[in-house]
Amino acid sequence: MINGLNPLSTLIKRKVNSAKEGGRCVTCLSPYASHGLCLGCRNDLPRNRWYCYSCALPLAFATPGMRCGECQTALPPFTRALIPWRYQFPVDGMIGRYKYHGHRKFIRPLLADFSQFLDQQLLPEQRPDLLIPAPMHWLRRWQRGFNQAQDIAEFVGTRLDIPVAADVVRRRRRTSAQRGLNRADRLVNLANVFEVCGAIPERVAIVDDVVTTGATVRVLARALADAGARDIQIWALARTPG
Ligand SMILES: [Zn+2]
Ligand SMILES: [Zn+2]
Repeated sequence: MINGLNPLSTLIKRKVNSAKEGGRCVTCLSPYASHGLCLGCRNDLPRNRWYCYSCALPLAFATPGMRCGECQTALPPFTRALIPWRYQFPVDGMIGRYKYHGHRKFIRPLLADFSQFLDQQLLPEQRPDLLIPAPMHWLRRWQRGFNQAQDIAEFVGTRLDIPVAADVVRRRRRTSAQRGLNRADRLVNLANVFEVCGAIPERVAIVDDVVTTGATVRVLARALADAGARDIQIWALARTPG
């Protein structure tokens, strides 16, 4: 017994638990899954098929390079957004179970596919020099125990061999939810929220789990551009439809 824990019984318990979950699809519980998803569920994931070239907002139809109304009105401070899924069933539930309940097995199938997607999309000259996870306010991070954006950045950073810097941007204060606010209120809500406190290379990618209105990544990208970044990409798992 070490500190009241019996290592052997812990090990056995873990083995029993993993046998119970072993290889089942995380969404339909089919036993025929590979990397956490069965073939049917993987094919049914809501792919972001038509989207704005700049901010990846899902569109009913789009030709390559087409931009949404908001990006046509004001070109965003980032070059492009690479976001493979729409924030809809079952991707919303998979991200939610991971983010709010800490169940990492729900996110693993998405992470593997996400790395592959990025690898296919990026030309060698478009590869960022640094991945910057969207920063979380320290209090929220302490409450949750982890920053999901940092988890995702570290996973894809390892797969694509790109360094991750989780401490070059700080979130000064907590902000209220952006949804339901108009454009002007969103910008007031986010004014001076990010502080860049490290050297920023020319080519970076901001990594996050979900891009909702796009206001946060716009403000964060602006702060990175002011700090010297010239080519800023947004990498996220899912984008909320407008
Ligand atoms: Zn399934
Ligand atoms: Zn757009």
